[in-house]
Amino acid sequence: MKIVLLGPPGSGKGTQANIICEKYNLPHISTGDIFRYNIKNETELGKKVKSYIDLGSLVPDEVTIDIVKDRLENADCEKGFVLDGFPRNLAQAKALSSFVTIDKAIMIDLSDEEIIRRLSGRRMCASCGNPTHVDWLVDGKCEKCGGEVMTRDDDKEEVVRARLEKQKLPQEVIDFYVNMGTFKKVEATDTKEKTFEKVDKILKGISKK
Ligand code: AMP
Repeated sequence: MKIVLLGPPGSGKGTQANIICEKYNLPHISTGDIFRYNIKNETELGKKVKSYIDLGSLVPDEVTIDIVKDRLENADCEKGFVLDGFPRNLAQAKALSSFVTIDKAIMIDLSDEEIIRRLSGRRMCASCGNPTHVDWLVDGKCEKCGGEVMTRDDDKEEVVRARLEKQKLPQEVIDFYVNMGTFKKVEATDTKEKTFEKVDKILKGISKK
């Protein structure tokens, strides 16, 4: 099962990718995770991509495409994979189709306003590290340990808006998969479990083929 997950940052596609990979025992390939790992470990790649990521811009295609191609050549991808965060533009989509055949491109969709609401309401407990949300706090404190909570820098509303603006998925990527007959869209307004039920119906359609 070769799956691409499309969607704006913050729509929950990473969460859906995790659930799919666990259920179907597939590798989860997230370009964002690969970049973050390399930045943390101060590799050559990490140094190359850090400035783009800090600005909320896309990393150049020549870097990103090679990384994905290499990763997909690993033996663990033979039976399938879930690609999360790639492709993000038409050049990437075309390059991907030149080295693998994708079964489904599933768009996990959410309105900008809901993304901003979710991400700008996200908090992190400064004491226990619990990722939480303003709606879940008890008297403004962490619902797990009562600690003070803080907002991550990249979850500030103006940064979230910049990421949404700079990284809008181009319509031509959607058209590319629609024309290939592999495009599906799932609204992610519900809980992650309900959203996964919809995603899983699409996946079961593939495994029956
Ligand atoms: P993500 O975790 O998917 O939101 O990715 C984090 C950051 O990594 C993005 O804001 C981009 O700067 C970069 N990135 C991830 N995937 C790609 C991609 N396919 N093309 C270019 N840049 C990417």
